[in-house]
Amino acid sequence: MGVSLHKPETIEEAVRLKSEDSEALFLAGGQTLIAMMNAELVEPPALISLDRISDLKGIDRQPDGAIRIGAMTSHADIASSDQLIDAHAVIGGAARVIAHPAIRTLGTIGGAVSHGDPNADYPAALVAADARFEVVGPGGRREIAAADFFLDYMTTELQENELLKAVILPPAPDRSAGHYEKFSRVDGDFATASVAVTLLLDGASKIDWIRIAVGASGPTPARSRSTACRSPAVARTWRRRSGASAWCSRTTPSSRTSACATTSPSA
Ligand SMILES: Cc1cc2nc3c(=O)[nH]c(=O)nc-3n(C[C@H](O)[C@H](O)[C@H](O)COP(=O)(O)OP(=O)(O)OC[C@H]3O[C@@H](n4cnc5c(N)ncnc54)[C@H](O)[C@@H]3O)c2cc1C
Repeated sequence: MGVSLHKPETIEEAVRLKSEDSEALFLAGGQTLIAMMNAELVEPPALISLDRISDLKGIDRQPDGAIRIGAMTSHADIASSDQLIDAHAVIGGAARVIAHPAIRTLGTIGGAVSHGDPNADYPAALVAADARFEVVGPGGRREIAAADFFLDYMTTELQENELLKAVILPPAPDRSAGHYEKFSRVDGDFATASVAVTLLLDGASKIDWIRIAVGASGPTPARSRSTACRSPAVARTWRRRSGASAWCSRTTPSSRTSACATTSPSA
């Protein structure tokens, strides 16, 4: 049976096409989807290519310092972006170690995130970055925190007719930093394990807070909701500076079911 190919030029058109045929699949870089179709793991009657939708492409710094990455932005563009500095560097670091150059050229952050592969590189990095996902569907637009997005193995919070529009990284404070480390047995392969870290230093180069996510070690990224405040005074200073509702004063690495009594701004 043949597969129809739609080439919408707007997000609205793409969402409409999907709501008219819920078995159709969005096509981003095709690096995963086409391989799955070749292996007959999925047999969609139609593909909705997102390639002509310019609103889905690019990396933009917002006036408040937040970074918006369009879903159709390639791994290669993210890897080479000079906008991803300070804590945001964790995302560029993850993009740089995805597979090989050919896959990084075609594969997109939206495709990788929507696919929800727990061994992929972005999930842990996005959780450590405290990213939010902008999603649009027939019912309108909504945002989902990265920490709530990955539900299980290849299962995400994205609903059947929803399109992932963009990834939003919150402003990275001065003196923040981010790093992504991947361990794989074969160069260019998926991770055997990965660790993503963002942190903020205070004026004395001590750590104010640290956010750690471990990838490829379970069905979803395991997040430490803890923050390593040096002292309650530091926590109070941070709360004043950031307007955070609360802040952990002890370190309890764990998954989303952390026993932390208070929550960081990311929670
Ligand atoms: C040989 C090989 C090695 C790889 N190694 C790695 C690796 O080391 N690390 C890593 O992280 N990844 C790796 N990948 C995966 C790669 O990163 C893919 O690019 C990515 O998983 C899928 O992105 P894509 O843009 O190609 O999406 P596609 O294959 O086009 O789509 C993937 C899925 O997401 C859906 N989708 C796509 N875009 C959207 C959207 N905007 N909204 C809603 N749904 C959408 C599609 O319908 C489909 O179900 C590898 C892939 C290959 C083939």
